[in-house]
Amino acid sequence: MNFIGDGTQNTGKLILYGWDNLSTNDGPGVRLALYFKGCSLYCPWCLNPFLQKVMPEIRWKSTNCIHDFECIKECKEKAIRNINNTIVIDEEKCNFCGACWEVCKREGLKPAGDYISLEQIVSLVEYEINLQIPPRSVTLGGGEPLLQGYPMLNLLGMLKTLPINHILLASCAGVDNQELWQQALKSTDGILLHLFTVDKDVWQSVSNVPFEVYLRNLHDLAISEKPVYIRIPIVPSFTNAPETIYNLCMFIKKSLPHTKQVEFRGYVPNSSFKNPLFSLKDTNISSEEIIKLCSLAHEVGLKETHWRGNLRTLDNAPLNYSISENKMDFETDV
Ligand code: SF4
Ligand code: SF4
Repeated sequence: MNFIGDGTQNTGKLILYGWDNLSTNDGPGVRLALYFKGCSLYCPWCLNPFLQKVMPEIRWKSTNCIHDFECIKECKEKAIRNINNTIVIDEEKCNFCGACWEVCKREGLKPAGDYISLEQIVSLVEYEINLQIPPRSVTLGGGEPLLQGYPMLNLLGMLKTLPINHILLASCAGVDNQELWQQALKSTDGILLHLFTVDKDVWQSVSNVPFEVYLRNLHDLAISEKPVYIRIPIVPSFTNAPETIYNLCMFIKKSLPHTKQVEFRGYVPNSSFKNPLFSLKDTNISSEEIIKLCSLAHEVGLKETHWRGNLRTLDNAPLNYSISENKMDFETDV
């Protein structure tokens, strides 16, 4: 992952958080994935809470901080405070000048996202895809990239002029602008859909976007006939109930017929980006549960379903899986 941030603040640009030129997590194959700020969900299990706001932010990493408070001395806007040895940034006062993270010797402060022009992003994409072995694939991810509005649509149009074989747009279908959503569907080769519920109460517990808008977007997606690659987060105590997964799989089967792949994503409790408010440190998903969930998907006819999760959720699992560092993948053909 590459992080960016030169401290410039402009409008009419896109707010990019970072990119991964060898992503295997953002759609089929190895892809260049760009991560844009902004999400229409505020899930309590979010692993990247710094992607949620449609604005650049400053990240404070307590484990790097040596509490010399040079950042506070350097900030001309008096936007930084020390509250019980915690560095707190006042977003109202901060003008994102960059002085604080530049003076920090230990990378205790870092920018999360910055305003980048469309031309700069296209140059970045051009450079990175030239390093790819064809077919060249790009994912515009987030968050919900379309929360940045029509400039994102313009970027999609500009990327179409490059020698890219496959462009995916990540989304949770939480865009409250139907015209923008429909135009985006026309401009992309497919949608990487983050889907975890079709229950009104659950949706409204994590989003301010009306449930009816969400369902309308899913309907537009279905009639667009664009290929859909679905990711379902399997979060213990929240989305792992068999009936929840069964209902979701039935919905996908009946309502999203152009689904190419369903991926159950295991929650990663030891991620460095985890939301400190929500710890599932001691909650594991058993191998039996994973097999059961994958079997449910298969039973309703979603053959292209696989699990992708963290090894610690599969302690002592008697499964045929391959291990790469601390990750594991397996395809189910049950
Ligand atoms: S300058 Fe860096 S190390 Fe020093 S108090 Fe600020 S965040 Fe911590
Ligand atoms: S970016 Fe500039 S204004 Fe914002 S907290 Fe840092 S030094 Fe202060």
